[in-house]
Amino acid sequence: RWVEVGPLLDRVLGDARTLSRDRHPIRLEGEAPRGAQIAGNETELHSAVANLVTNAVRYTPEGGAISIAWRRLPEGGGELAVRDAGIGIAREHIPRLTERFYRVDLSRARDTGGTGLGLSIVKHVIQRHGGELEIESQPGRGSTFRLRLPPQRVRGAAGPATPLRLVHSEERPNQDA
Ligand code: ATP
Ligand code: MG
Repeated sequence: RWVEVGPLLDRVLGDARTLSRDRHPIRLEGEAPRGAQIAGNETELHSAVANLVTNAVRYTPEGGAISIAWRRLPEGGGELAVRDAGIGIAREHIPRLTERFYRVDLSRARDTGGTGLGLSIVKHVIQRHGGELEIESQPGRGSTFRLRLPPQRVRGAAGPATPLRLVHSEERPNQDA
C-alpha cells in the first residue's frame, strides 16, 4: 500500500500542536511535496513519525523550534527529517538511544515522563520498511533524526519541497482554564 506523506505529516503536526500547547510554547513547521508517497504500513509509519515529533517537543525547551521536512534523495530514495533546537544528546549516548528502555539522563528523564521505548519502535518500523534511522545531535544545540527510505519504497514529487503547513503554538497555555 502507498501512504501519502503530506496528510501523514499534517496529522502528526496537528497532534504535536496539542501536545506542545499542553506543555509549553514551541514553534512547529512542516513541509512536504504534494503527491509524495511511501510504500508501507500507514499505522506503523505514523507511529514512527509521531514518536520522533513527540521527542522533539518533549526535549525542546520553551521558545524552541521544530521542523519536519520530506525530501527525495539524489539516489532515488526519500528522507524525512525531524529537526529540533532542543537540549541535544551527548555523542556517547547516540549509539544506545534505540535500545529498549534506554534514556539519557534518568533524573531529568523522570520528570519528562516516558519509558524509553519510542526510538526502539522507530528503528524497528524503519527497518521493516527497508530503511534506516540516522541520528545527529549536538548538546545544547539540538538534534536531527532522519528516516531514510530506499528508492523502491518511494514515489512522487521528486521536485523541491513546498511548504505543507505552518503550525504555531506560541501562545502561552491558559493557566486559568
Ligand atoms: P517514550 O518514547 O517511550 O515515551 P522516551 O522519549 O524517554 O520515552 P525514546 O523516545 O526511546 O524514549 O528516547 C530515548 C532517550 O533519548 C530519551 O529518554 C532522551 O533522553 C533521548 N532523546 C530522544 N529524542 C531526543 C531529542 N529530540 N532531543 C534530546 N534527547 C532526546
Ligand atoms: Mg520518546
